Amino acid sequence: MSDHRQITGKLVIATHNAGKLREMRDLLSLYGIEAVSAGELGLPEPEETGTSFAENAAIKAHAAAKASGLPAFADDSGLAVDALGGAPGIHSARWAGPDKNFARAMEAIDQMLRDHGATTPARRRAHFVSALCVAWPDGHTEDFEAIVEGTLVWPPRGDAGFGYDPMFLPDGHERTFGEMTAEEKHGLPPRGQGLSHRARAFMKLAEACLAK
Ligand code: IMP
Repeated sequence: MSDHRQITGKLVIATHNAGKLREMRDLLSLYGIEAVSAGELGLPEPEETGTSFAENAAIKAHAAAKASGLPAFADDSGLAVDALGGAPGIHSARWAGPDKNFARAMEAIDQMLRDHGATTPARRRAHFVSALCVAWPDGHTEDFEAIVEGTLVWPPRGDAGFGYDPMFLPDGHERTFGEMTAEEKHGLPPRGQGLSHRARAFMKLAEACLAK
């Protein structure tokens, strides 16, 4: 018997990010979970004051559960670049500025890597992190985290996905996340291989909290 609390019925997806919402909806629909977004419910966006991905995911999930009276599901994610000491990390969204300009954020990362003399794939290692938190209105939470490792290419390739996808080449693949279909990036077995950080964290969550 699982000692994790099971997710049933309706769930709020605590994000205002359209790219993440699409991916989280795709993942949840496989389990027949009906999901409404915090944006659709007009819930306020809490300030992400945590110092880790897990803390920020919990802040978002608790805020949405409290405001809606429903269990809420949040992801906090980002890109951690080895040669930059893990930056941009939890500040991944912020590096794109208020106009969410990821072309500029990717350029800034590439420039910093070149400033560090990081021109070979071995010096351009990075990983995406996804921390998932499901919070219930009574304060209970279930937390999961996963990463996907790869290297950063330049120039960026492909226009699928969102954020830093076009410069991230996952290990063992020849195409960046920006060149992959949604199914290839975050599809779950048996159709996909659960490649992305979010898909991997979601598989852990599904194993623990979702009925097959
Ligand atoms: P959050 O809303 O604070 O979790 O912001 C996460 C940020 O990390 C996003 O805005 C993206 O810039 C970046 N990020 C997270 N996951 C992905 C991904 O799957 N692909 C590309 N960028 C991502």
